[in-house]
Amino acid sequence: MDSYQVTCRSCGASNRIPADKEGVAGKCGSCKADLPPLYSQPQAVNAETFDRFVASYPGPVLVEFWAPW
Ligand SMILES: [Zn+2]
Repeated sequence: MDSYQVTCRSCGASNRIPADKEGVAGKCGSCKADLPPLYSQPQAVNAETFDRFVASYPGPVLVEFWAPW
């Protein structure tokens, strides 16, 4: 995947985000509103980093919990 398409929540414009900008917050090209950072791959978090990652992310977060047992 070379890029992502992100719809701006403020103006509805479609923004192309280069794949190498994964995890980097951007600005809408039309209205300059903040666009949330995107991730194409699951992000591994642990007990120490979970709260900070989820609390700081500006959009919905899908969480899969996993354990070896
Ligand atoms: Zn916009």
